[in-house]
Amino acid sequence: MIGSATKKIVRILGCNPGLTTGSGTNTYLLAGDAPVLIDTGAGVPAYETAFRSALAECGLNRLGAVLVTHGHQDHVGGVEQIRHIFPEARVRKMPRPAAEPLRAFDPLQDGERVVANGFAIQAIFTPGHAIDHLCYYLEGERILFSGDLILGIGTTVIPVDGGDMMAYLASLRRLLELDIREIYPGHGPVIDRPREYILAIIRHREMREEQILALLKQGVRDVSTMVKRIYADAPQAVHGLAQQSVLSHLIKLEREGIVVREEEAGMSLFRVR
Ligand SMILES: [Zn+2]
Repeated sequence: MIGSATKKIVRILGCNPGLTTGSGTNTYLLAGDAPVLIDTGAGVPAYETAFRSALAECGLNRLGAVLVTHGHQDHVGGVEQIRHIFPEARVRKMPRPAAEPLRAFDPLQDGERVVANGFAIQAIFTPGHAIDHLCYYLEGERILFSGDLILGIGTTVIPVDGGDMMAYLASLRRLLELDIREIYPGHGPVIDRPREYILAIIRHREMREEQILALLKQGVRDVSTMVKRIYADAPQAVHGLAQQSVLSHLIKLEREGIVVREEEAGMSLFRVR
């Protein structure tokens, strides 16, 4: 159990530790008369055991709904395991019709509310890390389940496929309008100073953008060199992910008309307009 006034929420780790997952994906079981599971991990067999022991610990033998934050494998991969145990549970997420088989999920849209255990859980469309990303706001408790939009450990990757730096910053600013007491992220520990934390993330991204602009002005035009310069002290293993984030910043600057992209010998080069 985690949280003091929130003893109904149990964190179950997805049993999938790794470079991009930290100690693994956090999934959250909201115990009560109508139990809800938020995210399902990556689908590794050990998760089913962990999920079953959490159910036993809470004396639960049913599940009302599964709410998925987004379609990345480490959040949606365990859906079939849960369906196997509770075939009747509704599995809900923001649809991504082109990428998902029809009827794989019950659609959930921005602003829709799911009522469970005497609380309403509001879905908040928060693109940026993924095109189908929903955060879930537990009204009353004022807890935000942030998926991968806000992490308790490490930095959210803004992937070239489905990511959008502009949308990401807009999503963070939108969350500042909510009265949030605690954030329960998709990876890492609970965040108990949400506003400061979100503002720090925004500042960090603005600082990164300034670094990129400074490098462009020095004549550095390609993503690889930028990553080597900006992440000189970071382990080589994170450079691949850093490339995606730097490129996402450049795409944002390009869309804002600040930066121009030119293709040369099959390589994207950037310069300040
Ligand atoms: Zn993700």
